[in-house]
Amino acid sequence: MKLLVCPVCRSKDVELDSGGYTGKYRCKSCGYTGSFVLEMDESAYKELYEGEEIVKDAEKKKD
Ligand SMILES: [Zn+2]
Repeated sequence: MKLLVCPVCRSKDVELDSGGYTGKYRCKSCGYTGSFVLEMDESAYKELYEGEEIVKDAEKKKD
């Protein structure tokens, strides 16, 4: 099953806006609305998420 992922905040809380009439998506997490969202399966999302966590950790260590 494909997940819809917000390109702005990487949230999975993305749904079709207005029941799909506009063909746009809306992120419930950050309010992003647009026709572009990331589509990926569960394992790809996990990789992305874990990758970002690693990046965050690396950034913390710089301080
Ligand atoms: Zn978002």
